[in-house]
Amino acid sequence: MSNNIWVFVQQDDGKIADVSLQLVSKATDLAKDYNKKSGGNAKVEAVLMGDKVKNLAAEVIQYGAEKVFCIEDTRLKNYTPLPYTKVLVELIKEQEPQIILYGATTTGRDVGPRVASALKVGLTADCTELEIGNYESRGESFENILYQIRPAFGGNIVATIVAPEKKPQMATVREGVMKLNNPDPSRKGEIVDVASVVEDSDCLSEIIERVKKEKSVNLTASQIIVSGGMGVGTKEGFDLIADFAKTIGADVAASRAAVDAGFINKDHQVGQTGVTVRPKLYIACGISGAIQHRAGMDESAKIIAVNNDPDAPIFQIAHYGIVGEIGDVIPKLKKAFMAKA
Ligand SMILES: Cc1cc2nc3c(=O)[nH]c(=O)nc-3n(C[C@H](O)[C@H](O)[C@H](O)COP(=O)(O)OP(=O)(O)OC[C@H]3O[C@@H](n4cnc5c(N)ncnc54)[C@H](O)[C@@H]3O)c2cc1C
Repeated sequence: MSNNIWVFVQQDDGKIADVSLQLVSKATDLAKDYNKKSGGNAKVEAVLMGDKVKNLAAEVIQYGAEKVFCIEDTRLKNYTPLPYTKVLVELIKEQEPQIILYGATTTGRDVGPRVASALKVGLTADCTELEIGNYESRGESFENILYQIRPAFGGNIVATIVAPEKKPQMATVREGVMKLNNPDPSRKGEIVDVASVVEDSDCLSEIIERVKKEKSVNLTASQIIVSGGMGVGTKEGFDLIADFAKTIGADVAASRAAVDAGFINKDHQVGQTGVTVRPKLYIACGISGAIQHRAGMDESAKIIAVNNDPDAPIFQIAHYGIVGEIGDVIPKLKKAFMAKA
């Protein structure tokens, strides 16, 4: 069993998924922490598969991987469950990493559980934090294992989940949750060609056509966000939010309650079941600040909350709070911004 920490690197049409690079970045922190605590020599390694994808390995190394296992096969061009699972399972059996991280994308959410089932190991979905720590249970102690931290019971508690007895310990993490390292183009790493174990008989499904549904907004890349909640009141009320956002060069987001009420579409939802954002500025308008909403935005660099209830929980995490009616406050903020611009 090695101590190495792996990331399953997802690529689609020759582009690496952002979440995979975020996980490589996180894996470098975990490896440092593991090595410091254990005196071990855990390395960050990545698995990259597809058709003609070797050229992507350098990018993975720039973000912190020391070794990239690269499997090229025309039959791995697009994700299909059986070939991808087989390649991963065989490589894991051979290399025996201690931890594997997957993006909580459609692909990661499909392949992770298949690998877990094939190897009879655990998998924690949608982690919001990962740490290295010790664990004691019924007189047995386990050192330097993966703490897989995520909201549980509808977001009412934050649970730390461990799977100390089986390796690899595996987790999925959603896009935007982990910080990206600064890429270092001078970093050197090893690229290992691995022969594909895929056989034609594994290819039971065939992709006939891939149709990409473009999202109406990519909030994970937004630097400034104006977000509306139930306090906005109506679909038309969101015009005020959108107009203010446009004025200050921001994107529009929303709480789940506002999405469920039909004020705006789900691409804009921030939170536990929406997207996770880390903008420089997040302006929460008429949002109470439920834990499920905060899970998606509390890492924002600055938070301004506008709410007519001075006791709204959002004020507990806001850097600046304005108690007032949205209909009064937003036009004033817009006017103040335009006066300065
Ligand atoms: C499993 C699970 C997953 C969830 N996932 C998410 C998620 O991803 N994202 C998410 O957002 N929620 C999520 N939720 C829902 C969450 O629990 C809250 O219900 C939701 O965030 C509330 O949205 P809100 O703050 O817009 O509405 P409310 O809680 O109704 O709050 C509205 C706020 O607006 C204020 N207000 C009202 N009128 C005005 C006015 N005129 N001017 C100023 N302020 C005003 C009120 O004081 C209040 O604070 C989830 C829940 C569960 C159980």
